[in-house]
Amino acid sequence: MDYLPIFLDIRGKRVVIDGGGTIAARRAERALEAGALVEVYNDILSEEFHPLEGHKNLTHIPRPVSGDDIKGAAIAYGASEDDARDALLHAAAREHGVLSNVADVAEYCDFITPSVVDRSPLVVAISSGGAAPVIARILRARIESLLPPAYGRLAEFVGRFRDQVAETIRKTVDRRRFWENAIEGPVGDLFLSGSAASAEKQLNAELEAVASGNPGKRIGEVYLVGAGPGDPDLLTFRALRLMQRADVVVYDRLVGKDILALMRRDAERVYVGKLPKQHTMQQEDISQLLVDLALEGKRVLRLKGGDPFIFGRGGEEIEKLAAHDIPFQVVPGVTAAAGCAAYSGIPLTHRDHAQSCVFVTAHGKDGVLGLDWDVLIRPQQTVAVYMGLSNLGHLAREIVEKGLDPNTPAAIVDNGTRENQKVVVGTVTTLEERAQAEGVKGPAIIIIGSVVGLHDKLEWFSKREEAHYSGYRMSLQPQDSL
Ligand code: SAH
Repeated sequence: MDYLPIFLDIRGKRVVIDGGGTIAARRAERALEAGALVEVYNDILSEEFHPLEGHKNLTHIPRPVSGDDIKGAAIAYGASEDDARDALLHAAAREHGVLSNVADVAEYCDFITPSVVDRSPLVVAISSGGAAPVIARILRARIESLLPPAYGRLAEFVGRFRDQVAETIRKTVDRRRFWENAIEGPVGDLFLSGSAASAEKQLNAELEAVASGNPGKRIGEVYLVGAGPGDPDLLTFRALRLMQRADVVVYDRLVGKDILALMRRDAERVYVGKLPKQHTMQQEDISQLLVDLALEGKRVLRLKGGDPFIFGRGGEEIEKLAAHDIPFQVVPGVTAAAGCAAYSGIPLTHRDHAQSCVFVTAHGKDGVLGLDWDVLIRPQQTVAVYMGLSNLGHLAREIVEKGLDPNTPAAIVDNGTRENQKVVVGTVTTLEERAQAEGVKGPAIIIIGSVVGLHDKLEWFSKREEAHYSGYRMSLQPQDSL
């Protein structure tokens, strides 16, 4: 290790900054956040100082820094981009024993300014020892996405109970295990999903159980997570985090390999996928499986295509979990209609075309279309049909019979957001034939309404598809190389 990582307490101490541009503003901002008394030396200050103007700890001295100014400071930053000024600052800092850092001049740096993820009181600082600041910044972006903004507040929350827990659990090792289980378990989850009161209740219950010498059997928990329609880039940060944490994943046919590859490597995988009309596992059995795995103490990730609450039977699964008092959380995902619409240049609503959009499933309980046709044929509306491919002919004939203009534009987005996405455009009347000609296999969303006409206009989007996919591959690459 070439540098010693430390966090300095500079509250109330002087920090001298020579320069008035972007870098100077960044240094000033950070030093002010840490409570320093900041002096900025430069004739003028750039616009980026505006947000800091009037800060009680900031002083602007409209001239370059002198050796005397540096005397007695805690830190001196060179950010003037002027060789002579940098050299003077460094020499004066040496003379007075002040730590100095001159932007982009390694030999004038006593210390490095790290890339920072600020979740105060939690702070992560990253340095590549000056060798590759870009890598440090990419890493920072990764950590930003992994640490939920509420992590700082979680640290505060934990801090409030520190003494109480220390009194109850005397042994350091036991205390550490208690905190690990709490933070990585239901207490941390409840807090991060916005329920501080429930988190506190849970923490007290766990503490009481330990105090009574009867910690009981640890119950696991279930994360009901929407994986989006296929492109892994559409996962939420929370989905990714829970995928990294779960002990076992119970997943559907709609969840692709690319997404499963992001699971924790040693997580057990259980496939409960269903092909249309070919039930691998009954819904009731899947719900029971989730309960059983959680009762074994496991963290169970129930990964579903799209959004768990949109034609995903997520509601039934959590009813069962609730009935067994198993802690769970639901993480929304990009639903197929939204993903398909965005990736095919068909806006679901549009000022001139549609003021509402309905999501329907054309897969009734016994494969019979039990649809409310009056609702579906309303003007100025887009209809997005899930699970409609096998009933497409039936659906198209009936909707026209019930009054929809037979020339209404309609599209099928097959394997939306995936590399093999296919968009077939026609009218409600011609769509079935086109789909057959194109060999559409599903999963597919059918979009009916005049917004489909915009697909041609927005074709630039489809042309960008190639660029998009290579973009997404690139975005995964740095992870491999780090
Ligand atoms: N919960 C899911 C829907 C599950 S129902 C969601 O919110 O998206 C399964 C249906 O979703 C499929 O029959 C198909 O109509 C649609 N679907 C799922 N993934 C899709 C994709 N990548 N492209 C097109 N349609 C998709």
